[in-house]
Amino acid sequence: MLSTLRFILFTAISLVMIFTAVYLTVLNTYKPAVKTYINGEFIGYFSDEQQFDEVYNDLVAEKQNIDENVKVYLESEPTFEQSYIRDSLLEEQNVYTNLRAEIKTEYTIYELVVDGEKQMTFTAEDQAEDYINQLKAEVSDINANIEVEKVSELEDVTSTERADDILAGIVDRNKPVEIPKEEEEPQTTNTTQYTASVYNGTVASVADGTKVWPTVYSRINCDYLGYYGHNGVDIGGASGTPIYAYMGGTVTFSGWDTTGYGNCIKISHGNGLVTIYAHCSALYVSAGQQVSAGQTIAGIGMTGWATGNHLHFEVRVNGVPVNPWTYLNQI
Ligand SMILES: [Zn+2]
Repeated sequence: MLSTLRFILFTAISLVMIFTAVYLTVLNTYKPAVKTYINGEFIGYFSDEQQFDEVYNDLVAEKQNIDENVKVYLESEPTFEQSYIRDSLLEEQNVYTNLRAEIKTEYTIYELVVDGEKQMTFTAEDQAEDYINQLKAEVSDINANIEVEKVSELEDVTSTERADDILAGIVDRNKPVEIPKEEEEPQTTNTTQYTASVYNGTVASVADGTKVWPTVYSRINCDYLGYYGHNGVDIGGASGTPIYAYMGGTVTFSGWDTTGYGNCIKISHGNGLVTIYAHCSALYVSAGQQVSAGQTIAGIGMTGWATGNHLHFEVRVNGVPVNPWTYLNQI
């Protein structure tokens, strides 16, 4: 009886000692940890929830480093399961990679849209506004606006250097061409190579009678393309001096031109060739009338956009202004 009791006591003490030994061993090798899931996806073990927060904040900072205005979030709150893991496993696992894959980002981008086409993309609103203001200052009637969008990835953000280039290109394409009015024409004598070779007399020069210098003067006040958009040759002369039809043809227009030519005559010579006589003081022929080369059709004046008396002589082929000297040179 006593021996049985001793045996039980001995066994009990032994068991307690074994358990204690095992417990101490386990405690040394295994550590408490939280097994972490997001959206049902196993992320890894963290020593505690605080350590999870630290890793998460590191990754948020990583994203904000790219764009400070990014919204960083998890689709669902993490769930933590109390657990024990081997010490070494804490080191081996890659919670950064796993958690990074679960992190969602939302970037706000500001796109500069011109005529319905996206031209620049910025992450800063004030930068987009700066560029649209610059654009509107340069091209007042441009159709441009800023579109705000939310995207999960940042792509093709426009650098300042690139934006400056794009801006210059848009301005270039949209800037209205400034056509100086004839008031601004320099009233200086033009001594181009044409003047002497073509005409140096004081009366209308007739070759074989089919082509006639359009007036009695030879002084060129402003030559063809003397400034951008000046498609005629300005021959200076006194008010009322006769203007002659360059060739025979049909008068297609005789009257007031509202685009700056004032009293104006247009003669069609066939094959798409038309001569134009502008700023006239008087008109002597009317539309539909047939005229012959050298016929007096008008008088020199300064009607329309003109500051001095002159004949603006222009030639068009199929509606397109061409160099009048091609024709004046034939005289
Ligand atoms: Zn002119």
